[in-house]
Amino acid sequence: MHVLKFGGTSVGSPERIKSLLSLIVNDQEKIVVLSAMSGTTNSLVEIANALYSKDNNKARTLISNLETNYNKVVEELFSSEMGKKKGTELVVEHFEYLQNFTIDLFTANEEKAILAQGELLSTALVQFYLEEKGVKSVLLPALNFMRIDNNDEPDLDYIEKHLQAELIKYQGIKLFITQGYICRNVFGEIDNLKRGGSDYTATLIGAALHSEEVQIWTDIDGMHNNDPRIVEKTFPIHELTFDEAAELAYFGAKILHPTCVLPAQKRNVPVRLLNTMEPQAKGTLIGADAKEDRFTAVAAKDGITAIKIKSGRMLLAYGFLRNVFEVFERYKTPIDMITTSEVAVSVTIDNPSHLDEIVDELKSFGIVEVDKEQTIVCIVGSFKQAKQGYAVKIFDALKNIPIRMISYGGSENNVSILVESSRKKETLHALNKGLFNL
Ligand code: ADP
Ligand code: ASP
Ligand code: MG
Repeated sequence: MHVLKFGGTSVGSPERIKSLLSLIVNDQEKIVVLSAMSGTTNSLVEIANALYSKDNNKARTLISNLETNYNKVVEELFSSEMGKKKGTELVVEHFEYLQNFTIDLFTANEEKAILAQGELLSTALVQFYLEEKGVKSVLLPALNFMRIDNNDEPDLDYIEKHLQAELIKYQGIKLFITQGYICRNVFGEIDNLKRGGSDYTATLIGAALHSEEVQIWTDIDGMHNNDPRIVEKTFPIHELTFDEAAELAYFGAKILHPTCVLPAQKRNVPVRLLNTMEPQAKGTLIGADAKEDRFTAVAAKDGITAIKIKSGRMLLAYGFLRNVFEVFERYKTPIDMITTSEVAVSVTIDNPSHLDEIVDELKSFGIVEVDKEQTIVCIVGSFKQAKQGYAVKIFDALKNIPIRMISYGGSENNVSILVESSRKKETLHALNKGLFNL
């Protein structure tokens, strides 16, 4: 069984949905994971925000505007009366459901139900379109098998068991469609795998079924050596190891959800990144062994806060770092980077929601300094310890950029530096020149 995931732009218009058929209708057995049509999840977030701020009139307008867009999609997508009828009924059903949230109480649970509507709509539209074209396929409700545990982590055993139970009902069917991103939590409520989560759905299904391959179809020809939204000259990387891909995804390469490589890596399922606009392009294969020592790519993660704790008590003391880490653990706040000296330790976090409480507690250990609006720039590659020269190349490229933190040696795949976000663009350009001669 192959797993093919199509992102927002790949299902972003009636034309794109129509051209999907040439990629998914063939003899290969497959599960097709779909995102919401591009822009929809952003609109749903806006609707939820309006409801949070009790601006119900604004929410009603936003909902009607989105409904108008979907009515146009239905009109253009279907050619038969039956297709148009089913499409229209679907849109009415989902948008009446959305309008109801403007009447009742609004909490985080309702927000998650709202955010789920995009994937529920796109998959149903594609399923109806396949029916109109006479293609045999089954729509598998992701809410029947995708699940997160009480730490908000995907429960792979549950997913495997319940997905198998769904598939067994449909012997002989070769094409399944399902929703990316959405899932249920331990209480059985609708939840999601965080923004960009359809990639995660695809790799979780791939891992659960021990698939031959997971394909992530998007709007670019694979993972590039640098962020193409910021740097003009970039090139696709044809082969990446799981470790390299995991670091790039986690540290900001938007093409992949931050943690989606992990399930594939766990079960050794190769992941291929492909371009729906250019299906013949080679793309990127993730899973291959590292070929040679190299600089592979650079990625950047914004919204980072750096915290420095300076304390004489660190001198020759043991247990100090544990005490510091326990504070972050209590507030369920992961640390990304860490550097230490004999008298101070600096860490970075990307979730500042408990920053004030964390800083208050850390003050009992020493002087605390906080720097906001920082960016981690992560240089990924294969940096074997025995080889020299990587650090020189990196820091030579960055000789004009002030660096707040450096992390080297944590793994053989990653050198991370922390810079002010205002210097990110300059940093990425400098690395493109220094490491890739571009
Ligand atoms: P989808 O909607 O298909 O999930 P995304 O927008 O999430 O697509 O991801 C694709 C986008 O990721 C590309 O259009 C590109 O701008 C961006 N991107 C950021 N960094 C990279 C990178 N290193 N390589 C390729 N694409 C990247
Ligand atoms: N639709 C969701 C989002 O926009 C999930 C995804 O596209 O992967 O974040
Ligand atoms: Mg995405």
